[in-house]
Amino acid sequence: MKVKSFEDLIEEVHKKGICQQCGGCVSFCNSMDYDVIGYKKPNSPPEFINEGNCLKCGICYHICPQTHVLDYELNRAFNLLDFSSMPLGNTSEIYSCQSTDFDLLHQGTDGGVVNSLLTYMFKEKLIDGAVVAKTNAPFSREPFFAECKEDLVGTSGLKLGISQQLDEVQKRHSYSSSLPELNKHKFKKLAVVGTPCQIYTIRSMQNLGIIPSQNIEYCLGLFCYENFEFDQRKVEKFQREFNIKFEDIEKINIKKDLIIQLKGDKNRNSLIHIEFEDLKDYIRPACNACNDFTNVYADVSFGGLGSPEHFTTVITRTEKGRRAVNDALERGIISNLELDSETKKHMKDLLIAHSISKMARKESFMKSKFGPLKKAKSTV
Ligand SMILES: Cc1cc2nc3c(=O)[nH]c(=O)nc-3n(C[C@H](O)[C@H](O)[C@H](O)COP(=O)(O)OP(=O)(O)OC[C@H]3O[C@@H](n4cnc5c(N)ncnc54)[C@H](O)[C@@H]3O)c2cc1C
Ligand code: SF4
Ligand code: SF4
Ligand code: SF4
Repeated sequence: MKVKSFEDLIEEVHKKGICQQCGGCVSFCNSMDYDVIGYKKPNSPPEFINEGNCLKCGICYHICPQTHVLDYELNRAFNLLDFSSMPLGNTSEIYSCQSTDFDLLHQGTDGGVVNSLLTYMFKEKLIDGAVVAKTNAPFSREPFFAECKEDLVGTSGLKLGISQQLDEVQKRHSYSSSLPELNKHKFKKLAVVGTPCQIYTIRSMQNLGIIPSQNIEYCLGLFCYENFEFDQRKVEKFQREFNIKFEDIEKINIKKDLIIQLKGDKNRNSLIHIEFEDLKDYIRPACNACNDFTNVYADVSFGGLGSPEHFTTVITRTEKGRRAVNDALERGIISNLELDSETKKHMKDLLIAHSISKMARKESFMKSKFGPLKKAKSTV
């Protein structure tokens, strides 16, 4: 049987406009050293750079979150065989948490919990490195490799846009890397912070046993309803439409809408809220074809939705994720609100409603574009 490969990704994903630009195929291409595929243009899917060097191994096709080849295997591994009836995924506990570290709390997107948990993992030597994202402009981001708390302080906060996190893993972990090369980079245990599309790709790699995914010890997943894409024309349109200059933006957050804090508004007295509905022209089209809001394949998921200001909603999923969060709570690295059962139920209902809304958006987008949904069969 012919193994599907990058040319099939072009036909089935890129040409259909549903590439999420997660970076998975590029980062983990077996033939990276030959520059088979890569990003040639910003805000576009990867392309062949040296097609002749393609080994037709099919890894890129299998790990792509938009081919869904490994859905069954992953859902089985994460107790999610009936995803539609479990839109929140496998949930061991839901918390509303906050960092106890002044810098991480104040620079954090919500409660500064993701970076605090990473700090704890560094301290306890649970990880040697973390792949996060940093930014130098609103809606712009790039992957960044952190090796200590000081590195993390500068990366706190939300970066909208997709950073090719997986590419950073690959840079540190090229396929040609031998063990001495890994040792040179000092780490063997990594944490990766990512959106649901990125975490899906990592889990697919782990499912197939492909290097270097075995070095990813923790997948810390961010909630994600959608992401945005800006070129110069869209920047100008956005500035006109919402009467906001990009250069005036201090901080961006996203919960059930987009929240903008302007420079000079330190007390957050005049936060600007923009409904997702009004941002349709700026959404990356492929996000309409994505159905996971709470990052169901992560070890721990994090978002602002459901928690009060300056707190992060935290969902523990795997045993190691649960242990890390509980240990961080016990040691006072993060604190949590005592939630009564009524509040917890309200929080859960809100998360479920958003998850269902995202699933419904995908269904209607796919139907409008391609007719009824068809699932790819596993060729593994
Ligand atoms: C694109 C995107 C969309 C989101 N959509 C929603 C939403 O609809 N509803 C909701 O409730 N929450 C959403 N979130 C999550 C939310 O904004 C916060 O990231 C989350 O609550 C954690 O907050 P914190 O203060 O605990 O994190 P912090 O302690 O501030 O740490 C945030 C960590 O995330 C990393 N990071 C930031 N941006 C990216 C990125 N683009 N890719 C990978 N890593 C990144 C940072 O480097 C940092 O390590 C979204 C996040 C992103 C990146
Ligand atoms: S070598 Fe393999 S992973 Fe790389 S582009 Fe070709 S089929 Fe995809
Ligand atoms: S969604 Fe990710 S893995 Fe799939 S083609 Fe696009 S960049 Fe590659
Ligand atoms: S909506 Fe889906 S595809 Fe878009 S950035 Fe978020 S996880 Fe990725």
